[in-house]
Amino acid sequence: NSAIIPNIDGSVNRIEEDDEDDVVDLAANSLLNKLIRQSLVESSHRVEVLQKDPSSPLYSVKTFEELRLKEELLKGIYAMGFNRPSKIQEMALPMMLAHPPQNLIAQSQSGTGKTAAFVLAMLSRVNALKLFPQCLCLAPTYELALQTGRVVERMGKFCVGVQVMYAIRGNQIPRGTDVTKQIVIGTPGTVLDWCFKRKLIDFTNIRVFVLDEADVMIDTQGFADQSIRIQRALPSECQMLLFSATFEDSVLQFAERIIPDPNVIKLRKEELTLNNIRQYYVLCGNRKDKYQALCNIYGGITIGQAIIFCQTRRNAKWLTVEMMQDGHQVSLLSGELTVDQRASIIQRFRDGKEKVLITTNVCARGIDVKQVTIVVNFDLPLNQEEEPDYETYLHRIGRTGRFGKKGLAFNMIEVDKLPLLMKIQDHFNSSIKQLDPEDMDEIE
Ligand code: ADP
Repeated sequence: NSAIIPNIDGSVNRIEEDDEDDVVDLAANSLLNKLIRQSLVESSHRVEVLQKDPSSPLYSVKTFEELRLKEELLKGIYAMGFNRPSKIQEMALPMMLAHPPQNLIAQSQSGTGKTAAFVLAMLSRVNALKLFPQCLCLAPTYELALQTGRVVERMGKFCVGVQVMYAIRGNQIPRGTDVTKQIVIGTPGTVLDWCFKRKLIDFTNIRVFVLDEADVMIDTQGFADQSIRIQRALPSECQMLLFSATFEDSVLQFAERIIPDPNVIKLRKEELTLNNIRQYYVLCGNRKDKYQALCNIYGGITIGQAIIFCQTRRNAKWLTVEMMQDGHQVSLLSGELTVDQRASIIQRFRDGKEKVLITTNVCARGIDVKQVTIVVNFDLPLNQEEEPDYETYLHRIGRTGRFGKKGLAFNMIEVDKLPLLMKIQDHFNSSIKQLDPEDMDEIE
């Protein structure tokens, strides 16, 4: 029942009832990931490469020096604390910096160094002495565009004269202004508008075109078509680069439509597993019972930090209030918060300022909080048909037993939901044991 209100530039606002389930907003999650990112995400997989010309040699680099970058750019990279290229950068950077330039489609999960890689490519190809746009980067939202711009500014700190222009809604540029900045970062709608309607940006000298967050981009109505219109207007010798954190067929199809003759590189994501996690369930009558069971668990075992998932905002709020009244340090993370507020709540939780984080599905994916040892499903994740949402279950629980640690998961189940839990058990072929909350010896 959420109303989706489109903005002029194609982005959307979602207006929701307060007791709605939180919807997953890809762009907001992506921004949140960037705001709370502390370091590179490692992967144990190998980078897969599909070269457009399989007979040409494949280079990879282990150091930034091998790339023969401009001195000032190398200085910028080291000033950011980067010692060596990330896994994806080892393969991607030689292709991106090659002469003649090569096109690239790259997919790897958020946090693996894609942004740093294409910012490096843009900065290495820019001529600071020439005062016109030379690189164009499309992002799905204004906030994500700003985040990329910040990376350009940090990495380009020693590149004297290189400047960034934001083609985003609300950035008022007087008619007839000559855009002299070399790097333009913007959302597709505004970039189109500035180029074709307002004739502010001249594409003639664009040498690098980056389409970032392609998966988020195609999720937004109109952005795929607008991006294609922009791409068509670029010079044929312009280097085209596309990045995505996920690679469903729809993303791949879009990528192949917009990037001619690409090399493709992929880094598979670490798979979530339930192997390291002991799963339990407690049968409960109603919400109050569930809360009592939760308190018993709390009283019975030593808990580091816990995340508790509720299906609706209303339940999450109710539980937060109950726990606070009983003197627990808890915080509530739900969809009505701005991304900045969410980021600061997650940061506080990471710093151990609160022991319990209560949340809806907004936080089910992607956010690593390493020290979490316990996950509680206060409500089972169900889809619209009231069937188990297996993927969400995996994402909620799969976050505990990571980094070689053992995790614990508790499901608070109303009797009539038990068959759904059994379906989950069968689906993952893993055992979920019943727990008597009065007797915690079972666990320790
Ligand atoms: P992505 O675009 O894939 O989400 P980013 O480029 O934003 O990834 O990188 C994720 C984090 O890792 C950022 O904090 C970034 O500064 C850092 N980072 C990127 N490349 C390196 C590197 N080679 N060495 C160390 N840290 C890096």
